[in-house]
Amino acid sequence: MPEFSRTTLDLLRQPLEEREIRITRNYGTYRFPARFLLVGAGNPCPCGYYPDLNRCRCSEKERRRYRQHLSGPLMDRMDMRIHVRVTGVEEMQAGAAAGPSRSEAVRKRVEAAAERQLYRYRGAGIRFNAELDAEGTERWCRLNAEGERCMRDLCGRSTVSARGYHRILRIARTIADLDGAEEIRTEDLMEAFRLRGTE
Ligand SMILES: [Zn+2]
Repeated sequence: MPEFSRTTLDLLRQPLEEREIRITRNYGTYRFPARFLLVGAGNPCPCGYYPDLNRCRCSEKERRRYRQHLSGPLMDRMDMRIHVRVTGVEEMQAGAAAGPSRSEAVRKRVEAAAERQLYRYRGAGIRFNAELDAEGTERWCRLNAEGERCMRDLCGRSTVSARGYHRILRIARTIADLDGAEEIRTEDLMEAFRLRGTE
């Protein structure tokens, strides 16, 4: 993603937020539906080797400029922000060996979680947790007293925007759904917070 210009990347903000693309011309405004799942990846620096300082040839300034392509408001609209570390050959081979059977099990969990959501939102005009607006999030991702305490604690340690807060709740709801849990538990919140990455 950081290979694109900041201006281009920031154009994603509106469709990510409103799930439609608006194009205004002299003779009127056109609206196109744009419900999509955005999966993006980026290197930590232009050469891709940072933080391995033996191989990274970028200056601190170049690294900073590269990362600045991803603006704060754009990153705030990404549900999950995950750091992926370098994988060794042995790890990759172990993963490939466990591959097909593991994928099958994951598929079953995902299908069950999707069904759970379809049932929960029947008649509500949406299908999945990701489609909940702020009001819907408050309603369907309600926390018990322990969950609220946990959320206050987690948010107290970093600055979380209102948008970020709701996103964490929706991710936690999805983690609970994947586990077949009726209520959002504190471990779901903590995992959601971790997947959300640093603010
Ligand atoms: Zn580099």
